[in-house]
Amino acid sequence: MSEQRLQEAIDTLKSSGVRITPQRHAVLEYLLNAMTHPTADDIYKALESKFPNMSVATVYNNLRVFREIGLVRELTYGDSSSRFDCNTSDHYHIICETCGKIVDFHYPKLNEVEALAEQVTGFTVSHHRMEVYGTCSQCKAKTAH
Ligand SMILES: [Zn+2]
Ligand SMILES: [Zn+2]
Repeated sequence: MSEQRLQEAIDTLKSSGVRITPQRHAVLEYLLNAMTHPTADDIYKALESKFPNMSVATVYNNLRVFREIGLVRELTYGDSSSRFDCNTSDHYHIICETCGKIVDFHYPKLNEVEALAEQVTGFTVSHHRMEVYGTCSQCKAKTAH
């Protein structure tokens, strides 16, 4: 399934005038295969052996290019550990407070919240972000022992 998504993503890059370097290709491929919302550092570590000359900054720059084109979303948490999500469809996240894992879940978009916020504040809403926190099943299994 990811072959087609990869090709589509590459076509999007090309039509945006972005040059496809081998590193850029590898970062993109990794992101599309990882459903784990990796950080730039995770991607760097995974590709380090293949591209010894690549730095974390290079990975981050590539991710920024992808974000500007709309191929990935950056999830910031107020520190340097932004997570990158190549699922750009509407979805929500649940985050494990023990291991930091982020899992996607789908729920109808909470349009009422946006409409209410607009009414109450007079803002024009562009989007919203909702996260649910807890302990994942693996972490629960570990603490049970
Ligand atoms: Zn966990
Ligand atoms: Zn996600």
